[in-house]
Amino acid sequence: MPELPEVETVRISLAEQLCGQRIARAETYRADLRFAFPENFSERLAGATVDAVYRWSKYLLLSLNNGTFYWLIHLGMSGQCRLVTKQDMPEKHDHLQVDFSNGVRLYYRDPRRFGFMDVLEKPERYPALTRLGREAILTVGTYPAALASGVVDAEYLRQHCANKRTSIKQFLFDQSIIAGLGNIYINEALWLVGIDPRTPCHAIPHQLFTPLATAIVEILEKALDSGGSSLKDFVDTDGSLGYFQHEWQVYDRAGQLCAKPACSGEIQRLVQNNRASFFCPAHQVRF
Ligand SMILES: [Zn+2]
Repeated sequence: MPELPEVETVRISLAEQLCGQRIARAETYRADLRFAFPENFSERLAGATVDAVYRWSKYLLLSLNNGTFYWLIHLGMSGQCRLVTKQDMPEKHDHLQVDFSNGVRLYYRDPRRFGFMDVLEKPERYPALTRLGREAILTVGTYPAALASGVVDAEYLRQHCANKRTSIKQFLFDQSIIAGLGNIYINEALWLVGIDPRTPCHAIPHQLFTPLATAIVEILEKALDSGGSSLKDFVDTDGSLGYFQHEWQVYDRAGQLCAKPACSGEIQRLVQNNRASFFCPAHQVRF
């Protein structure tokens, strides 16, 4: 599943190759992804020029004709944008083809079809976007309205955690509070700060909110740096903007020794709200 750093890296690649280019032709190969393509989708895109590519949480927003309207892309669980040439034939699971004036062809591939697309005029009024909380991280391409709301900080976390009985894991997953933070990074942040994922929000000591907010940003920035530095590797041989490989400290390491220096704990796995949590019972405290 593409997490925020992957989405941002896709944004950078799309911006590099598509900004200033006119959409010569668009064609859908099927009527729907997770939802139906919007009415007259291909016709609405055709002829428009891409002037910017933004990210709002894990949504990509291609600004068309100087912001007159936007092409929204959500990659879902397995969505990929393949940037190739007109000589490249569609492959299995390619559901959309868009040709640009510079000869670039975009195929949207999505085997599981949890992704979706839309065409909209005002992102600020689009329900899925207005419901989102503050961004987990701000980057150059963050959409201006999301940028204006600011980034998650210690005070924001403290305020929203007060009197909440839900677990910190579930809380951090709530996109209406923190936009763009996914399961892997939540596991990593809680491990780094030493909080057991089952801890109820209201029980978290106040002095841990600053390290927690810092950890979230640091982990995402580090992933973004590694994604950015391996941008060449990130583009697969078939032109698809892939998912990069990370070295996780705790995620997916059940049964292994804790990577924290001087900690002799063994990583455990549990399921919270249908998602896997990995944690070290030795140094992550259940407050
Ligand atoms: Zn540990």
